[in-house]
Amino acid sequence: MSILRVDGLVKSYGDVMALQGIDLEVGQGEVYGFIGPNGAGKTTTIRVMLGVLKPDSGKVKIFGQDAWKDAVDIHKRIAYVPGEVSLWPNLTGGEVIDLFVKLRGSNHESLREELIERFELDPSKKCGTYSKGNRQKVALIAAFAAKADLYILDEPTSGLDPLMERVFQECIREIKKEGKSVFLSSHILSEVERLCDKISIIRQGRIIESGTLNDLRHLTRTQIVAETKNNAKELNSLQGIYDLVIDSNKYRLQVESAELGKVIKYLSQYEIVSFESSPPKLEDLFMHHYSGAGSDD
Ligand code: ATP
Repeated sequence: MSILRVDGLVKSYGDVMALQGIDLEVGQGEVYGFIGPNGAGKTTTIRVMLGVLKPDSGKVKIFGQDAWKDAVDIHKRIAYVPGEVSLWPNLTGGEVIDLFVKLRGSNHESLREELIERFELDPSKKCGTYSKGNRQKVALIAAFAAKADLYILDEPTSGLDPLMERVFQECIREIKKEGKSVFLSSHILSEVERLCDKISIIRQGRIIESGTLNDLRHLTRTQIVAETKNNAKELNSLQGIYDLVIDSNKYRLQVESAELGKVIKYLSQYEIVSFESSPPKLEDLFMHHYSGAGSDD
């Protein structure tokens, strides 16, 4: 079932075309990763989803309702965490969490306490004294304590340390287990890689790549380090091989994922002594788009 659906979204700010036709769909129980460089249009997309920005054309439907016209209804069932969290400086973290949770009409006291403990937040401090990471924790605790059906998170972990990043990831997995959906915009590729069922890469207001991590991996290369008993000297004649370095019977190379089977078959004729392959990382894919063919030039 489609929880969030974006069709042909176009939005400009004066001369700046921020979104030039964005399409995406998030199903129930799915964690959807939205990645792209600064200024790509992630926050603009999210602001249209939240119904605070009206698109020039295109539609956003959440739970089958219109994000602009039915924003009030929709907001009862979504939780949102911005990248830059501003809080009332004179309220304590605990008071802000209570306020957000009560505004949503939910009251999960034990969940709130558990989250405060897991995120190691001191809720008695005034928000004005919190660091960026602590302000993010307040927003995340409020969001996770609210029990929403869709969580829209705009770079929610940029200020968290690795330990807290792990707590965040556990919370996302728990939400997913409950069948809830998550739309996660992120710069942290390892986070997207670990958590997301589907990923879209946005650049200059357009989605340039979309699919499961496996789908996207087919576009990239696998790194291989191998050794054979007999010399496989014709290795460089195979298709889809890059950056090949041969040192007597040892080989280091990159191979297009689609050609991997052929390379293994070829090497095995020469008796493989050792073979290590590392799957392409999202980072390789990302770099592929931001250097070379995908660059702005
Ligand atoms: P970041 O990762 O830096 O937050 P982003 O992917 O969220 O970037 P957006 O904030 O959506 O990108 O910006 C998309 C484009 O629209 C950028 O070129 C930005 O300069 C422009 N833009 C965003 N908000 C406004 C605004 N209020 N007025 C004019 N231009 C804007």
